Amino acid sequence: MTELPLTLKELTLKTKEKYISYYGCAPQWIVAAPGRVNIIGEHTDYNGGFVFPMGIERYTILAGAPCSESDKIKVRCMRFNESVLININKLNRSEPIWSNYIRGVIAGYQERGVKIPSMNVIMNSNVPLGGGLSSSAALEVATGTLIEAAAGIEFSLQDRALIGQKAEHDYAGVPCGIMDQFISAMARKDQIMLLDCRSYETRWTSIKDPDVSFLIINSNVKHQLASGEYGKRRAECENAAKIMGIDLLRDATLQQLENAKVQMGNTSYKRAKHVITENERTLKAAEALEKSQFEEAGQYMYQSHESLSKDFEVSCEELDQIVLIAHKIGLSGGIYGCRMTGGGFGGCAIALVKTTQIQQITQTIEVAYKKATGLTCSIFSSRPAMGAHKIQI
Ligand code: ADP
Ligand code: MG
Repeated sequence: MTELPLTLKELTLKTKEKYISYYGCAPQWIVAAPGRVNIIGEHTDYNGGFVFPMGIERYTILAGAPCSESDKIKVRCMRFNESVLININKLNRSEPIWSNYIRGVIAGYQERGVKIPSMNVIMNSNVPLGGGLSSSAALEVATGTLIEAAAGIEFSLQDRALIGQKAEHDYAGVPCGIMDQFISAMARKDQIMLLDCRSYETRWTSIKDPDVSFLIINSNVKHQLASGEYGKRRAECENAAKIMGIDLLRDATLQQLENAKVQMGNTSYKRAKHVITENERTLKAAEALEKSQFEEAGQYMYQSHESLSKDFEVSCEELDQIVLIAHKIGLSGGIYGCRMTGGGFGGCAIALVKTTQIQQITQTIEVAYKKATGLTCSIFSSRPAMGAHKIQI
């Protein structure tokens, strides 16, 4: 079903009201960090390549104020209606699961010598959880932003992101790359970030034209395969790089790959082919969008999906169906391009669309997806949104 968008302002207001009714006083700090979607550049990050994400108009909000208990952070989670009391001096992985993202970030600041202030906190979010839009990074980066606000310090956005990534590794046990936390921390309104995952260099592409939007289509499936296959793909990429005598697939050319094909075997060959061509597509798509060449950018998105589905083999029936439906709607129906986004085996697809046709496109996809899979998808549109920030209260 199509979800009604809750604006950041409305979400902030709700969170503030909840804070007052729950803790009996007003919050002193409110911060927000967005979820993200990757426009193109999938499974390139751990190969040292390029990714092209943007912040979405879906945020995780944390509101906080000092509390009287020493060395404690109490967090109330609005999503699950449960609370946790975190002892700042005794940090470890614990229950509930969601608290680990917060614990990990607290530990990260502590390791860097920050005295963590005691606080009562409320957490609210309209980023879908576990849907591939990085609610986890939004939570980590929001936690970092809150700690900095409360402690009266300011870390660089890169450090804030790296602390979030380490929390995800050490406290959530997810060996993620740097994209999610980087974009949640640094996202800019109306801009998409071209991130070089090796050098951490960023270049920004402006999408000022209000006639184009991004449609995020959640397949509402997540297949069990996801985490095991992720590890396998990484190993296959490493194997391909090793056979070509390089550290990272980022440095490989298609010619080098062809020369090593026999030695490599078909599986590693296909994985490497995806990564090499995806890096090229990502750079070209960024350039096309910069020049408002939307049709061209859309073609790269379709090609990316094909490559992820056939060569990298991380798509699934449901995501393939969404892309097929988008293709059928086509340019005359307002769609420039569409692809799966995120790690794969479920989660979301992203489409570049004409803003005026969003409503019609949404209806058509909902009906066709239901018909093809028997499932209901959730669709919302977003323009590139602002990264983590403090909200004036
Ligand atoms: P994704 O990052 O794609 O949304 P993950 O599995 O990486 O998926 O992270 C989802 C997990 O993050 C949730 O299961 C939950 O533990 C935690 N989480 C993130 N945001 C929130 C939130 N606002 N409230 C409660 N838990 C959250
Ligand atoms: Mg995540």
